[in-house]
Amino acid sequence: DRLISPAPKEREEHLDRTVRPKLLADYVGQPKVREQMEIFIAAARARDEALDHTLVFGPPGLGKTTLANIVATEMGVDLKSTSGPVLDKAGDLAAIMTNLEPGDVLFIDEIHRLSPAVEEILYPAMEDFQLDIMIGEGPAARSIKLDLPPFTLVGATTRAGLLTSPLRDRFGIVQRLEFYDVKDLTHIVNRSARLMGISMDDTGAFEVARRSRGTPRIANRLLRRVRDYAEVKGDGVVTAQIADAALNMLAVDAQGFDQMDRRLLMAMIDKFGGGPVGVESLAAAISEERDTIEDVLEPYLIQQGFMLRTPRGRMVTDHAYRHFGLDKPDA
Ligand code: ADP
Repeated sequence: DRLISPAPKEREEHLDRTVRPKLLADYVGQPKVREQMEIFIAAARARDEALDHTLVFGPPGLGKTTLANIVATEMGVDLKSTSGPVLDKAGDLAAIMTNLEPGDVLFIDEIHRLSPAVEEILYPAMEDFQLDIMIGEGPAARSIKLDLPPFTLVGATTRAGLLTSPLRDRFGIVQRLEFYDVKDLTHIVNRSARLMGISMDDTGAFEVARRSRGTPRIANRLLRRVRDYAEVKGDGVVTAQIADAALNMLAVDAQGFDQMDRRLLMAMIDKFGGGPVGVESLAAAISEERDTIEDVLEPYLIQQGFMLRTPRGRMVTDHAYRHFGLDKPDA
């Protein structure tokens, strides 16, 4: 189980509730997203309309679910939540949509994983607030049309490119979340520490932030582990020294990489001469799913300049060699 996996863990959901921002004003960072959403929400509210359908994409743990919840709160409506993989049949989605109140937010996580049959009924629902479904089977089957109240679909996905274009085209608002910089993460760590009653100095917050892989979910998780360490091995105060010792113990290195990041980079260096190497070969070499590499591992490594995506495959950069104290072989 990966400590710095950006995916939520069980139990964490409930811990998260304390620190999850509820209003746009508490949503740290992502200034472009915040500025735009402020305007779109204010305008929709003033017209007393449902907000346009909104697609949010970005790697796991960056705040897509949080943003969907904030939209509902700011619009003063309820949020109903589901996800692509759990919607098996068109009827599953129909059941949820017929329960919507006017203006409600329907949040669909992993929306790129909807089955084609479910996606099909989403189109008229998004466009005309019409539900068009088949009931029954065989000769008795018939299609019924139902009116839905106006609602806002908020879809979340890791990569926009995973969506079919008819689905993507039906979103009026598209927001892309970026990895957070250390300043914003420090702010998030400080805020979470305050809400969780953790005593921490500025150097401690900075150390946790800078090793959080640009990801708020990881920052909050590391903060909890560092707090444990401070309470058992120190006097309860999270300082840079305590944070550093705790994170070293957890094998989170100075760059915030864990074993999996290092394994990926080292495989490229050792087995493929630094690349270029295709993602399938890489997946086989480190026994990981291709999706995990593309959604979870490489976005941050690329953003930090440790690897590149080229038309011929993935390559490591000089940075990666330096990180491991290696000399780059002559070309
Ligand atoms: P995603 O849906 O993209 O996987 P979440 O919305 O569940 O990510 O965010 C994970 C956690 O990170 C949230 O519970 C929240 O505590 C924290 N978080 C995310 N975005 C922000 C933000 N902009 N400001 C403060 N905390 C955030």
